[in-house]
Amino acid sequence: MKAAVVHSFTSPLSLEDIPKPEPEPGKVVVKIEASGLCHTDIHAAHGDWPVKPTLPLIPGHEGVGIVESVGAGVTEVKEGDRVAIPWLGYACGTCEYCISGWETLCQKQLNTGYFLPGAYAEYAPAFARYVAKVPTKVNSLEAAPLACAGVTTYKAVKVSGARSSDLVAIFGIGGLGHLALQYAKIAGATVVAVDLVDEKLELAKKLGADYTVNAKAEDPVEAIQKLGGANAAISLAVSPRAFEQAFRALRRGGTLVFVALPADNYMQLPIFETVLNGIKIAGSIVGTRLDLAEVFELHAAGRTKVIYETRNLEDVNHSFEEVEKAAVPARLVFDMTGNK
Ligand code: NAD
Ligand code: ZN
Ligand code: ZN
Repeated sequence: MKAAVVHSFTSPLSLEDIPKPEPEPGKVVVKIEASGLCHTDIHAAHGDWPVKPTLPLIPGHEGVGIVESVGAGVTEVKEGDRVAIPWLGYACGTCEYCISGWETLCQKQLNTGYFLPGAYAEYAPAFARYVAKVPTKVNSLEAAPLACAGVTTYKAVKVSGARSSDLVAIFGIGGLGHLALQYAKIAGATVVAVDLVDEKLELAKKLGADYTVNAKAEDPVEAIQKLGGANAAISLAVSPRAFEQAFRALRRGGTLVFVALPADNYMQLPIFETVLNGIKIAGSIVGTRLDLAEVFELHAAGRTKVIYETRNLEDVNHSFEEVEKAAVPARLVFDMTGNK
C-alpha cells in the first residue's frame, strides 16, 4: 500500500509502497477514504516537541474510512462500518483517568500518527475500542477534520466554561480555530477572532465571529480590552507571543485555555497579574470518545461547517508548506479515494 513516511526530523516525508497492515487481536484495518492534515502532523514530522515520535512514522490522526477487516475478539465495530481514527488511539480503560471520563489523560495512552502508525496511508490499523463510528449524514472529507480539529476545540470550549453572556477570544483561525469559533457560538458566546491573515478573518466572519482582529495590523490586547476583556481566551495559534496576548486580553476572573503546541515551548506569564486578576489557566488535550460522538452529532444536525480543500497524498510535503505559511482556507484533507 501507499503511505507517506517520516524517516528523519530534518528530511521531507517519502511516498513509499509498504506492506498493508494485518488485523491483530483487538484491532481493525481501515481502508482510508479521507485523512486530514493537522498542524500536529507537522510538529511530529519535525520532532518539535519534548517527547519525540517513534521513527519511521506514518503521521495522520484524522483518518476516516471503511473497516476492511477485524482482528480476533473485536466486538465494537464490524467490517463495512465507517469509522474515524483519532489521536487517542489507545487508553488502558481501567486507570483513574479512564474511568472518570478523562481517558485523554491516561498515562498508558498511545497516539495515532505518533506512537502508532497513522492515516497518511491507504490502510491504517487501529484499536477497535478507540475508533469512532461516523454517522451517515457526515461525509468522510468533513468527518476527518472533526476527528481532531473538531473534537479538540469542542472540548476546549467546554473547558473554557463559555456561557451565553461571555466574550470568548479565539487566537488562531486555522484548522482548529475555524471550528472553535463555531462551538463558542453554539455555547451562545460573543466571539472575537484573532489571526494574522485577512482571509482567515473573513472566513471567521462568515462562520459567525462577532468581531475580528488582525494582530499584524492592531494590538489584539487593546482591541479586546476595549470590548471589556475576554471571559475566556482559547490559544490555537502556533506562537508563544499569541499566548501572551491571549493572557492579557482576559478580563478579571477570565480563563485562558492552552491548546496549540508551538515548538518554542515557553511563554512569559506574570504572577502578580494572574493572582490579582484571579486568572485561571487550563491545558486542553483533544477530547474523549463521547466528545467526538457529540461533535459528529452537531455536524449531522447541520450546526457546524467544515471548511477544507482536498489534496493528493503525493503532495504531502507541499501541503505541509502551505499550512506552515497559513496559505490554506482552514483544513487540508488528503482525498484517498482516488488512490485505489
Ligand atoms: P493551523 O496552522 O491550521 O492554524 C494556526 C492558525 O494560527 C493560522 O490560521 C495562523 O495564521 C494563525 N496564527 C499564527 N500565528 C499567529 C499569531 N501570532 N496570532 C494569531 N494567529 C496566529 O494549525 P491547527 O491545525 O489549527 O493547529 C494549531 C495548533 O494546535 C498546533 O500547534 C497543533 O499541534 C495544536 N493542536 C493541539 C491539540 C490539543 O489537543 N491540544 C490538538 C490538535 C492540534
Ligand atoms: Zn490534530
Ligand atoms: Zn487509563
